[in-house]
Amino acid sequence: MTETPMASFPATRLRRLRRTPALRRLFDAPLPGPEKFIWPVFVKEGSGVREPIQAMPKQCRMSPDILVEALNPIVESGIGGILIFGLTSEREKDHEGSAAYREDGIVQTAVRKVKHAYPGMVVCTDVCLCAYTDHGHCGPRDATGDVENDAANTTLARVAVSHAAAGADIVAPSAMMDGQVASIRKALDTAAFEKTIMMSYSTKFASSMYGPFREAEQSAPQQGDRKGYQASYADARTAIRKSILDEAEGADILMVKPALFYLDIITRLRDETKLPIAAYNVSGEYAMLHAAAERGWADLKPVVRESTLAIARAGADIIISYWANQYREVFADD
Ligand SMILES: [Zn+2]
Repeated sequence: MTETPMASFPATRLRRLRRTPALRRLFDAPLPGPEKFIWPVFVKEGSGVREPIQAMPKQCRMSPDILVEALNPIVESGIGGILIFGLTSEREKDHEGSAAYREDGIVQTAVRKVKHAYPGMVVCTDVCLCAYTDHGHCGPRDATGDVENDAANTTLARVAVSHAAAGADIVAPSAMMDGQVASIRKALDTAAFEKTIMMSYSTKFASSMYGPFREAEQSAPQQGDRKGYQASYADARTAIRKSILDEAEGADILMVKPALFYLDIITRLRDETKLPIAAYNVSGEYAMLHAAAERGWADLKPVVRESTLAIARAGADIIISYWANQYREVFADD
């Protein structure tokens, strides 16, 4: 007895579904709306400061007053939120990174100003120490140069509480220390910030795609690299375990960083958790597309749209992206 063959050509013609623009629109997944995007911003002390970042066109280091100004059109475009990174002067850096938890520190000041101007805006803060330590690592170092995990956790918790006290809605620990999420959650709850959300950079790879960011943040390590604490891109299982452990420690949102080289990790993590997943479309990924477009090797808008949709398609709910401040230009339909 012969089986009925599965429908195939010529009965089946997939091109039927994509014959016209109207039909394609009907079947295509839409690009994520502006509300799904978080714009990372770099703040430094002073007023009237707006320093363009060489490798990241349309991104600047800003003083808090300029940030507030710059946010006006962003708020109007309906962007989901911002993620604040602070820069501190060399003279304020020390072994521990104590400038990171000062009540009048740069991030704390920026959060207060932004929340005052736009009370409804979702404000996230990066919780790490590398921009505040004199050695540029994400925690204090022992005599051998290794970053001291548990000591870092204590300081990170202090930083997170100071951000919550300034009014941050979401604190985002990025140091990749073991146990940092539990340590921060406990400190937040003890300080009565049980409503503060935690978005953990739970699967953050030791990637070569952070170069332009380190120029922006002036936070490259003085010696060594971060491979002793950030995840190895060649060990996907351990990288995913870190996210699962962070969920168990109380993270509200997990994150994969970078995004475009790690779409498989986003998809695998999507299958392992019911938490929202954020993907960080990092500085190197941003710079790469700009550089290609500048040389005439790619059209900027189509490559940005294609790569961003890929991040959403992989399973990210929230996209942390430097394209967020250009949402209308890049993502709005022609
Ligand atoms: Zn760091």
